[in-house]
Amino acid sequence: MQSLRSFPNVQSLIDRLLDSAVPGEVLPSQQTLAEARNQLFKTLPSNGIGLESTIEHLTRYIKPALNGNSLTANYYGFVTGGSTAAASLADNLATLYDQNVQVHLPNETIATDLEDAALRMLCSLLSLNAEEWPHRTFTTGATASNVIGLACAREAVISKHLTAKGAYSVSCVGETGLVKAMREAGVEDIQVLTSAPHSSLSKAASILGLGRSCIKLIGHENAPHLIDLAKLESALQEPNVASIVAISCSEVNTGKFATHSESHMREIRHLCDRFNAWVHVDGAFGIFARLLTDADDASLIQASSGIELADSITGDGHKLLNVPYDCGFILTRSRSNAEQVFQNPNAAYLSGGAASDIASPLNIGIENSRRFRALPVYATLVAYGRHGYAEMLERQVRLSRGIAKYITESAHFELLPERTVKEGIKDSFDDVFIIVLFRARDASLNDRLVDLIKATAKIYVSGTAWKGLPACRFAVSNWAVEPERDLQLITSVLEGIVHDWKSRTAA
Ligand SMILES: *Cc1c(COP(=O)(O)O)cnc(C)c1O
Repeated sequence: MQSLRSFPNVQSLIDRLLDSAVPGEVLPSQQTLAEARNQLFKTLPSNGIGLESTIEHLTRYIKPALNGNSLTANYYGFVTGGSTAAASLADNLATLYDQNVQVHLPNETIATDLEDAALRMLCSLLSLNAEEWPHRTFTTGATASNVIGLACAREAVISKHLTAKGAYSVSCVGETGLVKAMREAGVEDIQVLTSAPHSSLSKAASILGLGRSCIKLIGHENAPHLIDLAKLESALQEPNVASIVAISCSEVNTGKFATHSESHMREIRHLCDRFNAWVHVDGAFGIFARLLTDADDASLIQASSGIELADSITGDGHKLLNVPYDCGFILTRSRSNAEQVFQNPNAAYLSGGAASDIASPLNIGIENSRRFRALPVYATLVAYGRHGYAEMLERQVRLSRGIAKYITESAHFELLPERTVKEGIKDSFDDVFIIVLFRARDASLNDRLVDLIKATAKIYVSGTAWKGLPACRFAVSNWAVEPERDLQLITSVLEGIVHDWKSRTAA
């Protein structure tokens, strides 16, 4: 039996856990998975097996059966990011201290001050003025951030309709509930107007009682990812309907942006002001395009500019910021509006210290008890700074463009979305960010492409669909990317697959 009373030197245990070899492959084999599944404890041991045996169990069976996407730069699935050394270290500290960050207690802990400092540095990294975003907090990820963004939007747009009607209410949805507040405001429906939205936007709409069907697409006929201003204006004119506009600041399948310039954002802002609508930006990973400064990156710089005109902004930490799961953030312009929604009332034991610039996180976000997820963000921003992050992103973008160029020049693959003549000269890939979507030209190879790539266990890609056919997607987001080295590996994997395919079909 293991005593719970003694607390060993955790660091030496972590060293032992990590010391055993880091996986060279991006996926465990089926055999490794089966063995681990076989070894999983499925019943609670009456007497624990003890720390020693647990380390042995984790090292021998569990660790090899995970996909070590942070530890290899060649995992291109989803947009997973990785974890920088500074972030990983700090995350261990957060675990060790098990600090709960829900109430601002400045005389007892530095935790909320540090969280605020991390959020301010993050704003600075993204060229946003923290003073304009007084409601800012860390979340569990972009999905939670979208829930908070839409909840703040829902509160504000109904409240604006109430005011427009001459009614005055201090708090509307948060206090009286959605149904009554809408009735009082004379609002019959709430719509979320967007283009190429992430699936979590529908999920947020469902959670918040708006319903998944409130999402309406207003993309351009020929470029569905781009917000069509004429469609936007006509949707905003719907009588007795409150509107939230959601800007997809880089879409997860194609990497495309919903706006093309600051003036595009300005027009959207202008229309939304006319019709009392809220502008939410989902910039989970796209907002990091604001780190780019090169002349080559002009189109991405344009597409991510003007974001500061929004009412709320979602971003992810565990993607391009390369901090561990689970970490995202949300920024909105009004702390009082956020408090109408998230105030945790009547809990005397949770009331915080003195009035302060720093809000108690429990009153401005979903959770009460929360992990100290600000610590890894703080550590990584301090360790690498603006230039470190810009350089990291430039490497990721360079690799993505290298992949796009290879795909375009290859006789066997096709880059998606198909490029129009206007998008021009084939060897210009300035619009490629960190997502590369493509397919094999041979339909039967294309059907199996994702599986064949995964089976090499050298690189990992996600499968998706494009216009009803299977497609394959690279999402480059790991801090450890080395463009030349990684492009060579990627092209050799793809060439190998084509070669094997040809010899098999010829036989
Ligand atoms: C990844 C992503 C999300 C969801 O983020 P989670 O961190 O998985 O919750 C939302 N929006 C966009 C644009 C994304 O790329």
